[in-house]
Amino acid sequence: MSDNEAGNSMKKTYQLDTKLTHSGNHPEDYHGFVNPPVVHASTVLYPNYETMRNRAQKYTYGTRGTPTTDALCEALDALEGSVGTILVPSGLAAITIPLLAFVSAGDHILVLDSCYGPTREFCDRTLTRMGVDVEYYDPLIGAGIADLIKDNTSVVFTESPGSNTFEIQDIPAICKAAHERNAIVMIDNTWATPLYFKPLDHGVDISIHALTKYPAGHSDLVMGSVSANERCWKQLYAHFSLMGCCASPDDSYLTLRGLRSMGVRIREHEKNALEMAKWLEEHPAVATVMHPALPSHPQHGLWKRDFKGSTGLFGFTLKTDDIEKAARFYDALNLIGRGYSWAGYESLAVLVNLSDRKIAKGTGDGVLVRLNVGLEDPADLKEDIEQALRAGGFFN
Ligand SMILES: *Cc1c(COP(=O)(O)O)cnc(C)c1O
Repeated sequence: MSDNEAGNSMKKTYQLDTKLTHSGNHPEDYHGFVNPPVVHASTVLYPNYETMRNRAQKYTYGTRGTPTTDALCEALDALEGSVGTILVPSGLAAITIPLLAFVSAGDHILVLDSCYGPTREFCDRTLTRMGVDVEYYDPLIGAGIADLIKDNTSVVFTESPGSNTFEIQDIPAICKAAHERNAIVMIDNTWATPLYFKPLDHGVDISIHALTKYPAGHSDLVMGSVSANERCWKQLYAHFSLMGCCASPDDSYLTLRGLRSMGVRIREHEKNALEMAKWLEEHPAVATVMHPALPSHPQHGLWKRDFKGSTGLFGFTLKTDDIEKAARFYDALNLIGRGYSWAGYESLAVLVNLSDRKIAKGTGDGVLVRLNVGLEDPADLKEDIEQALRAGGFFN
């Protein structure tokens, strides 16, 4: 856990890039060394029984936080404007832990239909087994969510843009409706990062990140964070303490290190992705491009209202419904990798399967490709796509 007041010289008024660079740093505590030490720990010693009985010291056990994890929590609190942050071993755990902390048997929860795939599997397989009624809603529902909220609705789960189909949600309208009925709102904010969308400022109670993505940024670790407002922090932390689901010291350190350069990396991903999206939009083999920062995106206005920028992940559809033809294109990619995850320095593509969707089925315009635009020169990425389209028989 972290504490915004304790020993934090970060001014709340600093700009985000300054917070990215300095928050969670306490060189005075470490002989002037700029970065915190990597503390590997289970046992923490106590001076006497009295201190032990009352847990009356800052650190009590390895699962309860160390100077390394505190530094990252403090940095994330400064960026999210949250009261407290927990660190967990994966982005998926950053979804399952808060759901388990706030949902009980007999509750009804609302989850956007275009959620991250494993979120849906967890809801369908684990939460339903525990007696939770899970209902999927149209990500574009906005204030209309009021009609779906029941007396036992405890959580409204959001993600904007939605996974793979990139719908932008009207988060303030959803929060207003949820709060009127006492439900709490969670968001998977992985795509935007707190640099481009600060959920708690828009009414969200709990902001979730796969730190695996831009904060770590180098495809070499998995980790997650959950940041809560005043209303939800105590309950989140109490549950976290019982789950034994803590993050590793080395990964916490690497994520904090990644955070320091996240601003410049994201702006480069953003620039490259926009160039690729605009190029694909004009491409004769492409039916549609789903990128919230393009004026052609159906919720471009909402994105402009609430977001400060866009990142490197977007979707496009090929002008074919033939998955075999799409696979020939996909298999011919040389520079762009075939693999899951995203937000690393290297470009990746995934052929998306939307068969689990009930409502948000995409454009219906052809095989959907999700592209993670890395830090390569876009000219080389275009050339790779061009030659792969030719190999796939999209033109001669
Ligand atoms: C990758 C991802 C996750 C899960 O993160 P892992 O660290 O891979 O478990 C959660 N949500 C979104 C939107 C993601 O893209």
